[in-house]
Amino acid sequence: MGPPGSGKGTQAQRLVKDHGWVQLSTGDLFRDHIKRETGLGKRVKGYLDRGEYVPDDVTVDMVRERLREISKDTRIVFDGFPRTAAQTEALDALLAEFDRRVGGVILLEVPRDELLTRLGKRGREQGRTDDTPEVIGKRLDVYEQQTRPVIDRYHGKGVVRRVDGLGTIDDIARRLAAAAEA
Ligand code: ADP
Repeated sequence: MGPPGSGKGTQAQRLVKDHGWVQLSTGDLFRDHIKRETGLGKRVKGYLDRGEYVPDDVTVDMVRERLREISKDTRIVFDGFPRTAAQTEALDALLAEFDRRVGGVILLEVPRDELLTRLGKRGREQGRTDDTPEVIGKRLDVYEQQTRPVIDRYHGKGVVRRVDGLGTIDDIARRLAAAAEA
């Protein structure tokens, strides 16, 4: 978990490469649907472009479909899910349904000014439609309002491992590997 621009996707890909785990990124799945112009893609595009969360039922159904495809002995790195209280409850039900459990929650911590710098740079370099100055601010606000409480809930359960998200990709990957084993 972590705010937009904290490096969730980058580090999830490292875990996949280094350990053979599978990444389940709701943002990537949505963007793939949008690119392929599927019915789901058409339904969610406006939310992504505005920096709002896609409704929980749509998101949870998509995650369930993806979970069906992943073999039970493969470890999954959830990237960008769960992001709301309702998704957290839905995840508990999904884990029971698929006979899985959460191994740990990693929180990538990056200060807001660094997030703004990174997302602005990604917007200029990659042209992601939600990396514009207005939408970036909106995404950070939505994260604070809707996802911060989810992290607090996991904190209460004592499963959160905080990782400093500042430094090189390699630095952070090393910290994350240490946190994942701890
Ligand atoms: P970032 O975390 O950098 O904003 P993501 O690729 O994780 O990037 O998410 C991009 C967008 O996809 C979000 O702003 C939101 O519109 C949508 N999205 C991703 N994950 C979820 C989710 N779990 N619930 C609702 N919407 C989501």
